[in-house]
Amino acid sequence: MKVDSITKLLIDKLGEKSVLTGTNLIQKYDHIWRMNEPTKTPLIVFPKTTKDVSEIMKICNNLSQKVVIHGGLTNLVGGTKTSSDTIVISLEKMNKIEEFDEKSKTITVQSGVILEDIINKASEKKLLLPLNFGAKGSAQIGGVVSTNAGGLRVFKYGMTRHMVLGIEAVMPDGTIISSLKKVIKDNSGYDLKQFFIGSEGTLGIITKIILKLVVSPSTRYSAIVGINKYENVVNLLKLLENDIGKILSGFELIWNSTYRTMINALETINPPLSDDFKYYVFIEVLGNETENDKILLQKSIENAINLDLILDGSIAENERELNNLWQIREDVGILDYDSKFAQHFDISIPIPKIGSLVDKIVAKLNTLEYVDKIYPFGHVADGNIHFIVGKNKNSVEIIDEINKVVYSPLKELNGSISAEHGIGLDKKKYLNMTRSDDEINLMRKIKKLFDPKLILNPGRII
Ligand SMILES: Cc1cc2nc3c(=O)[nH]c(=O)nc-3n(C[C@H](O)[C@H](O)[C@H](O)COP(=O)(O)OP(=O)(O)OC[C@H]3O[C@@H](n4cnc5c(N)ncnc54)[C@H](O)[C@@H]3O)c2cc1C
Repeated sequence: MKVDSITKLLIDKLGEKSVLTGTNLIQKYDHIWRMNEPTKTPLIVFPKTTKDVSEIMKICNNLSQKVVIHGGLTNLVGGTKTSSDTIVISLEKMNKIEEFDEKSKTITVQSGVILEDIINKASEKKLLLPLNFGAKGSAQIGGVVSTNAGGLRVFKYGMTRHMVLGIEAVMPDGTIISSLKKVIKDNSGYDLKQFFIGSEGTLGIITKIILKLVVSPSTRYSAIVGINKYENVVNLLKLLENDIGKILSGFELIWNSTYRTMINALETINPPLSDDFKYYVFIEVLGNETENDKILLQKSIENAINLDLILDGSIAENERELNNLWQIREDVGILDYDSKFAQHFDISIPIPKIGSLVDKIVAKLNTLEYVDKIYPFGHVADGNIHFIVGKNKNSVEIIDEINKVVYSPLKELNGSISAEHGIGLDKKKYLNMTRSDDEINLMRKIKKLFDPKLILNPGRII
């Protein structure tokens, strides 16, 4: 009944074309990897402007209607799951690049613009938005900012938070908070935009963003190397930081099981290395000296070979090889597809401890008879490792048991159960394993202040 009256109110305000209900929703879904599972929401509304979003939230707030925000639907924590009592606001029609200011090196975008479109736009003027991860072709910048996404270049350029200069957001009661400044320095009171960055749509709907760009490097070279001892992964990172620290922009690690599955699935790619190393490190340099940067990378890898840190290595010789190489690291949808009842993990711990911790977790998971796939990979230079765990059966108890195997050692190591993917619905139960009760209570108070009726992205995080 409530949905019928909301539908009517929304159509009156935004027009019939802005609202989808009933059988028209049959091809809509809640996650990009689950397109065969139709969304459970009875209504999706597609605003085109910030004012539209504000009007929608005023209506929902008046009727205490719960709302879930849909961006590019690539999150890995159940953040965009729906139910029959939630309606969806989809930002996909708010996809305008509003201003590209070359002089101040900023770009102003609506929140539904696809991340890769921003990267491509910036590159037209030799500028770079240094965000890079496997979902960049589908993730929307609003989703990226609201999850404070990380990715493959964090240790050089920082998380999304470091690239955001200004934000406009709509509060759960429809109030528009606009802080669209192009300045880096602004200590005039609380930095309110930080509330919306990384809070997974629990405090407001981001509608517009001003992003800071950097001058594009003109060279990009990459290599993959094979290593058998984890301590040599750490030693290699140190050596590269010493040798080529200024241009080093990526240092990614995958384990043998992950490499084998990726190579088998990517049939068209010639495997750059044999499949018998325990670890594979992907190295990226971004610089401005065409010949020299490549020589520097080559020399550094030769140094590492002479010091017995690495056993074999291969440098991508052209654009095609470079793209093929990164596909092995980035196309993690393949691992999800290969893992039945997949569980995703995104933990962070101090870098030197990663090797032994992953060994321990893998050994423990292997003792569980229903676990049949374990794929570790990650952004090791930031202390951030992902796992995808596949199983031959599933239940709430099984999910919980696996979660506890992965999360239990983290508190003692001062780590985090979520380095970059967030908490969403799926990890909420485990938040107290690496955040204190006082921290969680403060989060609850902040949520209540922004959203007294608890209608926006309900149940996420806390
Ligand atoms: C192949 C693959 C690789 C990935 N690699 C990485 C990685 O390396 N690093 C990383 O950090 N993440 C990674 N992710 C996770 C995911 O891509 C990011 O979390 C991304 O930022 C989500 O953007 P989205 O537009 O898809 O958001 P969605 O999935 O649509 O939404 C994410 C959350 O934000 C909320 N939300 C969406 N839009 C808005 C808005 N405008 N205002 C307020 N709240 C909003 C949603 O309600 C939800 O809670 C990966 C995912 C995939 C599938």
